[in-house]
Amino acid sequence: MKALVKRHATPGLWLEDVPEPEPGPNDVLIRIDRTGICGTDLHIYNWDAWAQKTIPVPLVIGHEFVGEVVAAGPNVGGFHRGDLVSGEGHITCGYCRHCLAGQRHLCPRTQGVGVNRPGAFAEYLSIPASNVWKHAPGIDRDVAAIFDPFGNAVHTALSFPVLGEDVLITGAGPIGLMALAVVRRASARYIAVTDVNPHRLELAKKMGATLAIDVRSRTLADAQKELGLLEGFDVGLEMSGNPQAFRDMLANMAHGGRIAMLGIPEKEVAIDWNTVIFNMLTIKGIYGREMYETWYKMSELIQTGLDISPVITHRFRFDEFEQGFAVMKSGLSGKVILNWR
Ligand code: NAD
Ligand code: ZN
Repeated sequence: MKALVKRHATPGLWLEDVPEPEPGPNDVLIRIDRTGICGTDLHIYNWDAWAQKTIPVPLVIGHEFVGEVVAAGPNVGGFHRGDLVSGEGHITCGYCRHCLAGQRHLCPRTQGVGVNRPGAFAEYLSIPASNVWKHAPGIDRDVAAIFDPFGNAVHTALSFPVLGEDVLITGAGPIGLMALAVVRRASARYIAVTDVNPHRLELAKKMGATLAIDVRSRTLADAQKELGLLEGFDVGLEMSGNPQAFRDMLANMAHGGRIAMLGIPEKEVAIDWNTVIFNMLTIKGIYGREMYETWYKMSELIQTGLDISPVITHRFRFDEFEQGFAVMKSGLSGKVILNWR
C-alpha cells in the first residue's frame, strides 16, 4: 500500500510502498479515506528536537483520519464492513489504575498512532477496536477526518462551564478556532480570540469571535475596555503554546478565573506565580481527549448542527502532500486535508 513514511532521520517525508498492516485478534483494519495534517506531523516533517527524540525511524506517520472498516480480528464485536470510522490516536495500556477505572485519557503508558506506532497517512491502518469511533450516518467526511483535533478543542472548551461567561482564547490555529465554535455553542457571553496571524484572525471573525485581536498592535487591556469587562476574563483557553500569550492571559483573568492549557510551549516558561496565587486562578493541563465522553460530545455537537467546516481551508490528494505541508508551514491555512481515494 501507499504510505507517507518518515524514512530518514532528516527533514522531509517519503511516499512509499509498504506492506499492509495485519490486524491482530483485537484490532480493526480501516481503509483510509481522508486524513488531516496536524501540527505534530509538521514537527515530524521538519525533524525538530522533539521529533528527533520521539519518532522511531522508519515510521508511517499521521493520526487524524476517517475511513471504512474492511476487517476485524476474531475478538472484535460491534463493527461491520463499511462502517465509517475515525480513531482515538492514544492507545492506552488497559491495566493501569486509570484504565481500569475507565479514565483511559489519564493512562501514563499511552502510545500515539503515527508517533510511537504506525499511523494513518496510508491506504490502510490497523488499531485496537477499543480505539475505533463509529460515526453517525451522513457526517461530512472532511469534518470526520479532523475529529482528533476537534476533540482537543471540545475537551478544552468544555473543561469549565462557559454559559454566560467571558472567554479568552489565545491562538487562532485550527484548534483555537474549533474551540471558539464550541464555546459559542455553549453560550459564552463574549469571546475574545488573539493571534499574530491576520489570516487566522479573519477566520476567527468568520467563526463568530466577539473580538479578534492582533496582539502585535493591541493589548488584552484594550480588548477588555472595548468589551466593557470590569474584572477580567472568566475562562481562558490557551491554544498557542506561546509563553507571552500565556503570561498576558494570566494578567487579564478575573479573580477566580479558570484556565485550560492545551498549547504546547517549546520549553520551560516562567510566569509570575503571585498572579496565580493572589488572583486565585485555576490552571488545568489538557492532553488529548476524554475517552470517550469527548467523542460522544463531538458527535452530538455535529449532529445538532455545529459547523466546524470553515476551519478546513485546503484539500489535496495524498501524492500532493508536499503542497499540503508547504501551506501548513506558510501559516496561510486552517486545517489541511489529504484525500487517499
Ligand atoms: P497552531 O500552531 O496552528 O496554532 C497556534 C496559533 O497560535 C497560531 O495561529 C499562531 O499564529 C498563534 N500564536 C503565536 N503566537 C501567539 C501569541 N503571542 N498570541 C496569540 N497567538 C499566537 O496549532 P493548533 O493545531 O491549532 O494547536 C494549538 C496548540 O495546541 C499548539 O501549541 C499545539 O502544539 C497544541 N496541541 C496540544 C495538544 C494536546 O493534547 N495538549 C494536542 C494538539 C495540539
Ligand atoms: Zn493505562
